[in-house]
Amino acid sequence: MKVEYNKSLKNYNTFGINVKAAEFVEITSEKQLKEVLSKPVDKELFVLSGGSNMLLTRDLDAFVIHIAIKGITIKESNEDFVVITAKGGENWHDFVLHCIENNFGGLENLSLIPGYVGSAPIQNIGAYGVELKDTMVSCEAYELSSGKKHVFSNEECKFGYRNSIFKNEAKGKFIITSVTFKLSKKNHYLNTSYGAIEAALAEQNISNPTIQNISDAVIKIRKSKLPDPLEIGNSGSFFKNPVISKDHFMELQKEFQKIPSYQIDENSIKVPAGWLIEQCGFKGKRWGDAGVHKNQALVLVNYDNASGKEILEVSEKIKATVFDTFKIKLETEVNII
Ligand SMILES: Cc1cc2nc3c(=O)[nH]c(=O)nc-3n(C[C@H](O)[C@H](O)[C@H](O)COP(=O)(O)OP(=O)(O)OC[C@H]3O[C@@H](n4cnc5c(N)ncnc54)[C@H](O)[C@@H]3O)c2cc1C
Repeated sequence: MKVEYNKSLKNYNTFGINVKAAEFVEITSEKQLKEVLSKPVDKELFVLSGGSNMLLTRDLDAFVIHIAIKGITIKESNEDFVVITAKGGENWHDFVLHCIENNFGGLENLSLIPGYVGSAPIQNIGAYGVELKDTMVSCEAYELSSGKKHVFSNEECKFGYRNSIFKNEAKGKFIITSVTFKLSKKNHYLNTSYGAIEAALAEQNISNPTIQNISDAVIKIRKSKLPDPLEIGNSGSFFKNPVISKDHFMELQKEFQKIPSYQIDENSIKVPAGWLIEQCGFKGKRWGDAGVHKNQALVLVNYDNASGKEILEVSEKIKATVFDTFKIKLETEVNII
């Protein structure tokens, strides 16, 4: 285990922001992690996985732990389902593909989400009508202060929309080292409710899709819609889709007849943040190397050499204008560091 000093994190975050970590270590086993946690450190500990959900706005005067613990194990299996555990350092999409190859159903809609398995529970990753919480049984995590291992059940994780205990009372206190899922082996529950998936399957005349078909459709849609961080620095959706009251929505509808919406319950309506940002004229806008993607108003981008602060400034402008126009407070989905 080698500690590196003043390490550039440019290649460790999908925004491609060039900040430095005072100390940096790559952890490839739980034994190494326990060793690190057992030693007193004079710096704050910071966990970094795929760096696809963070905006780094400063050098980190921290001891950065990059989780690279690998391994996939089947814990239980019968005719109907499998209980499968992936270590925190596994690439999320590779794990999804592994499950699909083995005909384990439940994660196919979450294909091609960047990042690692260990960080997936942090914001309860979700896409195309499916969230991690739908199949996650439990996750194992080490408490930073005591070095003790704790198993969090699905319920204990207090999952919500892009939310969990790890973004609230347990924020910064645990390192997740593995995640366990219960997946179907037959009679898969297929979720094709998102129009784009239905359309992609219809285009190929697929009426009885397999989990492989759904994964392929999701990959195709995502590739056509979202910028590839390898080509242009970004962190996916920068803001969460806001949920507002029905009264507020009806008030807005008087002025903005075309405002899109998804009913959450009797009194709450979700509004796409991308639409709000686009209406405010931000789509495709650029200030130096920081800006808003030309096809996706919800995605902020680093065109080349923007600093985290410059991207943060763009996000603040967007927040202020959306509030002035719609009286809606946007919340960031990306972790601002
Ligand atoms: C192009 C693109 C598309 C995306 N699409 C989606 C999408 O459809 N749905 C979605 O939900 N998300 C999406 N995201 C966001 C992102 O991929 C997910 O949030 C992903 O789970 C982040 O994983 P990561 O390994 O990169 O985490 P990181 O960015 O490394 O970390 C995120 C946060 O978790 C903490 N953390 C990291 N690892 C651990 C660990 N093992 N234990 C404890 N804390 C940890 C970090 O300190 C940080 O606060 C997208 C991102 C991009 C770039």
